[in-house]
Parts: sequence; structure tokens; C-alpha cells
Amino acid sequence: MLAPTLTRVREALAESGAEALLVTYPANVRYLSGFRAPDDGRVFVTHEDAVLITDGRYIAQAAQESQLPVDIFEGSWVEHLAAKLGGRTLAFEAEGITYALFEALREKLGPPPRPTEGLVAELRLTKTPAEVDLLRQAAQVTDDAFTHILGFIEPGRTETEVALELERFMRAAGTEGAGFDIIVASGARSAMPHGTASNKRIGAGELVTLDFGAKVEGYHADMTRTVAVGTLSDAHAQLYAAVLRAQEAALGALAPGKKGREVDATARDSLSRDGLGERFSHGLGHGVGLEIHEGPRLSKTSEQTLEPGMSVTIEPGAYIPGDAGVRIEDLAIITETGFERLSQSPKDLITL
Ligand code: ZN
Ligand code: ZN
Repeated sequence: MLAPTLTRVREALAESGAEALLVTYPANVRYLSGFRAPDDGRVFVTHEDAVLITDGRYIAQAAQESQLPVDIFEGSWVEHLAAKLGGRTLAFEAEGITYALFEALREKLGPPPRPTEGLVAELRLTKTPAEVDLLRQAAQVTDDAFTHILGFIEPGRTETEVALELERFMRAAGTEGAGFDIIVASGARSAMPHGTASNKRIGAGELVTLDFGAKVEGYHADMTRTVAVGTLSDAHAQLYAAVLRAQEAALGALAPGKKGREVDATARDSLSRDGLGERFSHGLGHGVGLEIHEGPRLSKTSEQTLEPGMSVTIEPGAYIPGDAGVRIEDLAIITETGFERLSQSPKDLITL
């Protein structure tokens, strides 16, 4: 996997006109090197060479994890980099450095460093079969955790208790645990798309939205299910049915060659037909990989064209402030002929 990736990085480097590339954005450092402490590492690529630069704390770990030769520095890594560079022109990742680091590079390096944007992120858009396999494993544990939690949720439990039990299950299953802050939003809180678990107790007759995912070797799963605890009002049952229709309509439109905004419009139109267009207040979905949110974007304005190997979530929602909300989210991989749905959990309304 690594050799072809480095070839593509070097092609992009040549286009930028610089002679070396400094990769500092953590997910990109991990992608190119395999190093699991990417906040403390940088990848330095020239046309002849590619190394992981890190410090003495990571001698053993980097030797074990890095697919690139490891270069350990002492003192200042910027000075270490300046010595390696020897006056050549450096390209850096605009999304991966602070202004303070930019100033330090400008001061120490000689020729002014040049910004690049999205150079490695572009390569990460399309997943290799090995990456898809990790996403599939993460999605499988996420499905298992959902099945498990159905037997745990009951009136009187707090949202936090539910989140902890999801986390415990996913860790006990051998994953790195929850890939992001688990959302458990019940009753009126379900109207908050990003309502992370609180100490609110779940009540009878409420909708509960669970948005969570396991992480396997750095790769995230992302799934949302909304369940009913006790009998729902007709209005809430209709809200659920409308979001499910929109979610299935969007999956029906998911295929290579489609633009992000086209798939988004399918869900949005479906919700509008149910009078809920204004209640769908976010984009339809996003790519998932080493980051929980990455390209491609599925939104009202996304011109990105879907290609085989891309991962996407399909997650329409409808939120009525002060009352209730529903979101249903699947993780899928675009294939040559359509898509593979990695999230397998049932979507018909489950009443606990
Ligand atoms: Zn999610
Ligand atoms: Zn998501």
C-alpha cells in the first residue's frame, strides 16, 4: 500500500514546485507512516527519501509501528529539519501547522516554505481494500454494541450510563473503544443533533438517539439509530417513519458518479414531501476513515463526485426543538456498481 501512495505524494510534490514536503496533520502522518502517536511525529518526503521524524520517547514504538525509516531528533525538530533540507524548498500542509510553527519554519529554513492544501487528504479519499476491511470490522463491533444496548436501555437509566455501557462493550470486544464522544440524546434532547450523553434519565414514551462507533487500528465506524422507549405518540412515530423514508431514498441514490449534492437532495426532497425539509438542519453525510469526519462531503453544496472505494455516511435527521428528533445513519462504501452497506443494524422502529 505504501509504495504507490508515496509515488502519488511525490507526483503532487513535483506539481507544487517544491523539493520536499513536510506532513504534520496527524491523520496524514499516521496514514503515510502507520505511527500511532502522530501528534508527536512528522513525515518528511523528498524525491529520494521519506522518513518519520520523532523524538527519543518513541524509539521503540516508532521502530515497531512505522513503515517508514525513523529519524530521531534531539533538541529542536525545526532545526533538525533545516539541516536535512539543506536549503531546498519545503512545501508544508496549510491545514497542519500553527502560525507560530510557520514563523519558525520561515526563520530557520532559508527559502520561504510554500503552502499546500489537501494534498494527502485527496489520497485518503479512496480507501484500499485493507482500509475497507478495518472499517468493516469497526462497523461490525458497532452493530454488536447496538444489539447489546437494546437489552440495557430502560426507563430510569441515564444517558451517561448508556454511553458508558456502549464504550465498555466496544473495548471489551477488542477495539480501541469509542472513536468519538458518544451521543445519547433522549426525549426533548433528541432534538439536538450533537447531544452528547448527559445525566438525564430516560423516560417512558421517549425517543432515544444513539450515535456512536468503534475504532479499529485508527479507523472509525459511525452509526446512528433512534429507538422508542415505550409507546410513542403518533406524531413521533410519523417523524421516525419520515426520516427512515429519507434515509432509504438517499441509499437508493447512492452510486459512483453521483455528486455529493445530488445524494443529499434525495433525502432533503423526501423530508420536504413530509413537511420536514426545514427540520433537516445539517448535511447528509461525510467520509470516514482515520478521521471521524473527512471527505467526501454529502451536503447541499458538495460538488464532489463519488468514486469506488470512498466511504460515506448517510444520516438524514429531523429535529423539532423542545420536542423530539430522529436521525438514522449508516456507513457505506461506494463500489463499482453501487455501494456496500457496512452498518447492518435494523432500521425499522424498535420499541423497548
Ligand atoms: Zn454519527
Ligand atoms: Zn456521521
